[in-house]
Amino acid sequence: MNNTSFHDFIISEEIQKAISGLGYHNPTEVQASVIPRALEKNDLIVKAKTGSGKTGAYAIPICESVEWLENKPQALILTPTRELAVQVKEDFTNIGRFKRIKASAIYGRHPFSIEKAELKQKTHVVAGTPGRVMDHIRKGTLPLSKISWLIIDEADRMLDMGFIEQVREIIAELPKERLTMLFSATMPEEIEKISSDYMKNPVRIDISESDIMAAETEHSLYMTDEKDKFKLLTDVTVMENPDSCFIFCSTKDRVDMVCHCLADLDYPCNKIHGGLEQKQRLSAMNGFKRGEYRYLVATDIAARGIDVENVSLVINYDIPLEGEIYVHRTGRTGRAGQKGKAASFVTPTQVRYLHNIEELIGFKIPEAIKPSQEEVSLHKQPFDEKLKRTARIRKSKSDELNKEIMKLRFNGGKKKKLRAANFVGVLSNIEGMEAEDIGIITIQDTLTYVEILNGKGSMVLETMKSTKINGKQLKVIRASDKH
Ligand code: ADP
Ligand code: MG
Repeated sequence: MNNTSFHDFIISEEIQKAISGLGYHNPTEVQASVIPRALEKNDLIVKAKTGSGKTGAYAIPICESVEWLENKPQALILTPTRELAVQVKEDFTNIGRFKRIKASAIYGRHPFSIEKAELKQKTHVVAGTPGRVMDHIRKGTLPLSKISWLIIDEADRMLDMGFIEQVREIIAELPKERLTMLFSATMPEEIEKISSDYMKNPVRIDISESDIMAAETEHSLYMTDEKDKFKLLTDVTVMENPDSCFIFCSTKDRVDMVCHCLADLDYPCNKIHGGLEQKQRLSAMNGFKRGEYRYLVATDIAARGIDVENVSLVINYDIPLEGEIYVHRTGRTGRAGQKGKAASFVTPTQVRYLHNIEELIGFKIPEAIKPSQEEVSLHKQPFDEKLKRTARIRKSKSDELNKEIMKLRFNGGKKKKLRAANFVGVLSNIEGMEAEDIGIITIQDTLTYVEILNGKGSMVLETMKSTKINGKQLKVIRASDKH
């Protein structure tokens, strides 16, 4: 954090209010350098530590700059994983809450028809994975003519061999008059070189300097044989007794095995890897974010960008082969200035991989001594108590921001020829309601969802039970969050 205030930037009251509702009191260092430059419309290449607030660094100026009246998407954010696309969309929705910014996430294995219908409505910002974005472009369901911001998050991953062709294809379709910004905690030089093809005099912002790791994280490694790894895992978790813990493995099968063995010991755990159904992946991620599961066993699909509060421990059950992956995996802890620990299990044949990692992070990871059985048994009781305790479901930052928001569902939509203006007209005529109290309106064929802000939802709900819209009395109920 630093001495700059969000009020030092030219940001509207609506955005300021959302930021403070999220508990952002001051801009982080990367936000302080990026926001003014982005508002001045510079192309940027930004390198800043994991967990340093890079999403806000681009989402705040985008939300500020978006033309609300324009119906076509104005910003495209590319991310390497589906879960990250969803998280970025949620961040935009939160930051743009009071400006009523409409953000959509489009990603593989998500029903195409739902995305298509969403993109047909007003959409200011689209976050997506490259394959699905390209699908929409080919089918003509993602209009690009108004895109004036392209953000490539986790840019080094997006421009490496796995993704570069798809990203190139997407860029070729975008308007030339646009801003392009790259963000990552790791940015190898060759990646910066590729990016120069797509950017105009980019300004380089490097907050990480020599220190690319979150300073608040304590790193250690355990030398172990493969056969002793699982025992070591249970010992380390007993000793640390973390509130939330990521366990990274090298393959899907190993994730399955570790998760299965932990579940046998009654650990509140779930898993995420590319072999699972998309629904399972998202529900594992959400359950972990909410604190329902305290342990998430994962492959590298969860290594980048994912932001979970209170992850106090990251375990590399299998050491990653590349330094960059080490940085991103262990970057799931020590976020936003919090403390964290990262423990890596290394077998004798894997010592050679350590060299790459240590060269990139710039320090030697200290070797820890395996806990003795006496130590472990001393810690077992508090560990078991926490294991038995029912999960405390964590409120997310958006719950706090949303507590004054109620979503109403009306049983009438396009088929009854209803339009957003009809709802705005009637709702803003209710005594005590102002236009600013109306949030996002989503009109479907037979249903309409309207968000009522500033704690006025119950009052509006009661009033609308006996108030007509366009001459029709619609049934209205409080909608659940997901629809
Ligand atoms: P990065 O992309 O750099 O890894 P994120 O954008 O995911 O980091 O942000 C990390 C965490 O910090 C998130 O939980 C986010 O809500 C929080 N955060 C972002 N900006 C601020 C701020 N200005 N003040 C406090 N917390 C912040
Ligand atoms: Mg990020």
